[in-house]
Amino acid sequence: MDDVTGAQLIAESLKAQKVEYMFGIVGVPIIEVAMAAQAAGIKYIGMRNEQAACYAASATGYLTGRPGACLVVSGPGLIHALGGMANANVNCWPVVVIGGSSDQNQETAGAFQEFPQVEACRLYSKFSARPSSLEAIPSVIEKAVRTSMYGRPGACYVDIAGDMVNAKVDRSQVRVVSCCPSPPVSLADHSAITEAVSVLKAAKRPLIIIGKGAAYGRAETSLREFVEMSGLPFLPTPMGKGVLPDDHPNCVAAARSRALLQADVVLLLGARLNWMLHFGQPPRFDPDVKILQVDLCPEEMGNNVRPAVALLGDINAIVTQLLEGVHKDGWKYPSDAEWWGTLKDKIAANAKISKAMALQSTVPMNYYTVFHHVSQLLPQDCIIVSEGANTMDIGRTMLNNYLPRHRLDAGTFGTMGVGLGFAIAAAAVERSENRNQRIVCVEGDSAFGFSGMEVETMCRYNLPVVIIVVNNNGIYSGVDPETWKEMEKMGDLTTIAPPVTLLPEARYDEVMTAFGGRGYLVRTVEELRNALQQSLSDWEKPSLLNVLIDPSSDRKQQEFPWLTRSNL
Ligand code: ADP
Ligand code: MG
Repeated sequence: MDDVTGAQLIAESLKAQKVEYMFGIVGVPIIEVAMAAQAAGIKYIGMRNEQAACYAASATGYLTGRPGACLVVSGPGLIHALGGMANANVNCWPVVVIGGSSDQNQETAGAFQEFPQVEACRLYSKFSARPSSLEAIPSVIEKAVRTSMYGRPGACYVDIAGDMVNAKVDRSQVRVVSCCPSPPVSLADHSAITEAVSVLKAAKRPLIIIGKGAAYGRAETSLREFVEMSGLPFLPTPMGKGVLPDDHPNCVAAARSRALLQADVVLLLGARLNWMLHFGQPPRFDPDVKILQVDLCPEEMGNNVRPAVALLGDINAIVTQLLEGVHKDGWKYPSDAEWWGTLKDKIAANAKISKAMALQSTVPMNYYTVFHHVSQLLPQDCIIVSEGANTMDIGRTMLNNYLPRHRLDAGTFGTMGVGLGFAIAAAAVERSENRNQRIVCVEGDSAFGFSGMEVETMCRYNLPVVIIVVNNNGIYSGVDPETWKEMEKMGDLTTIAPPVTLLPEARYDEVMTAFGGRGYLVRTVEELRNALQQSLSDWEKPSLLNVLIDPSSDRKQQEFPWLTRSNL
């Protein structure tokens, strides 16, 4: 007899489905699962909180197109992972969560950490199931992996009864399930393509919006050809940045509000018309704008705005179809069109305002000064992870991306706390693919706090992530140390300290040095440049730059009052 345990079946099934990374926190009953995963050749990264583990697993899904696995214990372990599942599902990123749970004969008996896990995960996933026998494990895992990738990607959950982990079965009794192929690709209906091409050609003020669906769908090559052949302006969404480089001559990101407001035809490539795109509606869009909506999810078509043409299918395939249609008669949108003039004027005016703020050399620094110098020093091929309110919003406009899937941020769910998990995932993928690209994690001080203990994970695995904490002593804004001292004298801080404040000048850099990484306290431009240069030249250890900025530093004046909210 050739016996195999439940733990081995889980690990071997994941490996058979080409799941290469597992992030988790072990405990009873799943320690053996992590060990079996390593034995099967899966890279196991032990994290400090299940939420961060699940963020990391989903980020490998986005970066590689194949889900990462997240391994958690029962009850509280699984509940912590729900945040990560929700984030993955809302972002449309594939992830497979494996949760240990109570023994089969103890269900509903009040067992240790017992919880209705399969039911709990339904709301946060596309698929949630508990194999009823050891023999069923390979097919349930194949289904979870396949479901996480096919159609609209998302989270899947597999529940493992605790007593199954070490139970054994004769291998010959277990049906082998081979690796599921990449998702099948579908093309848009031919007549829809013809119609879309004629609407595009008739547009006076056309605009392409590139979303993270285009990044996930690896549409960069076809899209570059389409943009350059058609001569159309494009605007990336936050994680659509880098599908085409931010410094591409057709990129109109610096005139975003103007472009959205005045476009008469929008080719929407893998982005939802949700809050991030102002629902596609006035006052941010022309009420009569014609949307050419490209998405692989039919239910998405018509959300908030009825599209002029719905192009259902894979972005990469559809862009190729559109390219044929547009290029057939050599059509190109004229580079001397009035629309291009409008957009370019706006881009030049905005650049002037940002530059003036960036060149301020007062101490403490403002956001614009910090990002100006950071952007000068970052290598073009680095992966930028970013979160925080002002830090993420201002950073997005000033830190360019030049390569697809090289920006990871709070995403559609606006989740704070994702940064360190994403950075760990990106560093693990980089290392195993030998690409030698830097991972730079630009965090607000508040955002950093949600998963700050993951610096220990970075130090333990020698992941040379560079963390820049843009520290304004609070959430949105804080107070300076003197003001804080005054408040301490005035009375009970729990009744008078503004809820947005955090400890002024907290030494986040020492959190990194505590675990053997490099920490830098930064107040001036010179210190910032030196610390960043040193961090970027160190490939052995992670670094953390604690950049103290003016706690009242804010965003530049916005043209429209509705632009003052943090999400814009
Ligand atoms: P963004 O954050 O950039 O606005 P969203 O996450 O809102 O992007 O939207 C991404 C969209 O892309 C989703 O509606 C998803 O269904 C779609 N999508 C993902 N992959 C593909 C693909 N390969 N082809 C077409 N659509 C895709
Ligand atoms: Mg802050």
